[in-house]
Amino acid sequence: MYTTDRLAGDPRAVKPVGTNRAATVPAGAATRPLTGPLAEQPMNAELPFLADGGCACRAIRYQLVSRPLFVHCCHCRWCQREGGASFALNAMIESDRVLRLAGEPVPVLTPSASGRGQTILRCPTCQVAVWSHYAGAGAAISFVRVGTLDEPDRLPPDIHIYTSSRQPWVVLPAGVPAVPEYYDRHAYWPATSLERREALLRA
Ligand SMILES: [Zn+2]
Ligand SMILES: [Zn+2]
Repeated sequence: MYTTDRLAGDPRAVKPVGTNRAATVPAGAATRPLTGPLAEQPMNAELPFLADGGCACRAIRYQLVSRPLFVHCCHCRWCQREGGASFALNAMIESDRVLRLAGEPVPVLTPSASGRGQTILRCPTCQVAVWSHYAGAGAAISFVRVGTLDEPDRLPPDIHIYTSSRQPWVVLPAGVPAVPEYYDRHAYWPATSLERREALLRA
């Protein structure tokens, strides 16, 4: 409690967040027609949404040009191993909605639970993973690592999956769907995301 109170009251602790937001949002807003008041947008795939991100060394920079289809917080052992952490946070989005602003990530075929592999796109310099493609959806859909966004707080999980292997100290929030393994997208995705997926499959 002492640490939290101290941070909350210390302007030096909160300043970098505000500074980062101020530097990032207007820069995009000034040059791109889709931009709106980014922070205030409700959950609606049809409203303008832009989010910039990149790797640690900044050789890779990208921009999501719409809200993702759905955001997975995956607690499977494979994701835990790949990230060296407790879960992975992936925003699923049509690959043509991930604009390359700088650099070209390199594909690394990585073993996956399905046995068919997952292609992880990494910065050729710092090797940070920025997104991946799974065998199921293929290259048409990117699973963007939310942690590589400049403002990852904007994309909290829409669902927690594979919670059967959740590390027990991770406490899931009330009000967010959670399933022991995978799920039926028709039961959880918003209609607009289902329509976007259908359009992608027809294309
Ligand atoms: Zn890099
Ligand atoms: Zn996983």
